[in-house]
Amino acid sequence: MTDSEKLSCCITFDFDGMSSWIGSAKSRNPSMISRGQFGAVAIPRILDLLDRYMVRSSFAVPGHTAYAYPGLVQDIFARGHEIVHHGWVHENPADFDEAGERNLLDQGLEALQKVVGVRPSGYRSPAWDFSERTVDLLIEYGFDYDSSCMGHDFYPYYLRSGDEWDTDSAYRFGSVTELVELPVYWGLDDFPLSEFVMGLNEGLKAPSAVEEMWRGDFDFAKQNCPAGLFTLTLHPQTIGRGNRMLMLERLLQYFNEHGAKFEVMGDYAQRWKAANPVEDWKLVNPELSGESAIKP
Ligand SMILES: [Zn+2]
Repeated sequence: MTDSEKLSCCITFDFDGMSSWIGSAKSRNPSMISRGQFGAVAIPRILDLLDRYMVRSSFAVPGHTAYAYPGLVQDIFARGHEIVHHGWVHENPADFDEAGERNLLDQGLEALQKVVGVRPSGYRSPAWDFSERTVDLLIEYGFDYDSSCMGHDFYPYYLRSGDEWDTDSAYRFGSVTELVELPVYWGLDDFPLSEFVMGLNEGLKAPSAVEEMWRGDFDFAKQNCPAGLFTLTLHPQTIGRGNRMLMLERLLQYFNEHGAKFEVMGDYAQRWKAANPVEDWKLVNPELSGESAIKP
């Protein structure tokens, strides 16, 4: 296998801090919010683990978290990792009107600029939620890639703008844009598998069970998806606890021994886009572009 055919591995971290409990869970409960504070405890041990295995990662950071823990976010960046936009306070963009959604993007950008002096090329929506206008706004704001959607497993694709649907007529595909999607999946995310949320999410799976699932998906990708992309979405407040850290270390060893190429999402997105011009990609992906659909 040549180097260009290797499977790329993006070990991504969503450093939500308190923001996910405030924005997504809408909590006023200090105990619940303290679960996010544990993310700050976990960051140094995660950074040390990544250093030991020479893994560069992508960290999605809400503006709210960047202000709460500027030193940690600066350390993440200084140690060579990529910083990705992750909203303002982990809100669902669909809960806002257009001016409100713009404000969330602006506040996130402003915080990352102030704390680490970067304007990220990538975006990951909090809880992977989009409004119907999110794609257009990400393009207008100049993002190169997004990592929030699930239309593929181990290959990127181009997002469409202007899809329309109702229950009375055929699906109307919009136009393919230049915005690269690096897909995600709930089964490759530690939160639903491991994080207990009373009445909402059972979580607390044995790390050995999670390890088996993730290793199996990696094996499939490696065997079937040359030059593809295997993305894990991890949360410091979840993966950073005891046994799960040991499991993550075993996985990094396994990926390493099985020829994975660790890289950050921005580098992969740039390389993939250069190798897959939109018009060429549309020709060989008529289902993903919507070109083959019967028009209503
Ligand atoms: Zn998040």
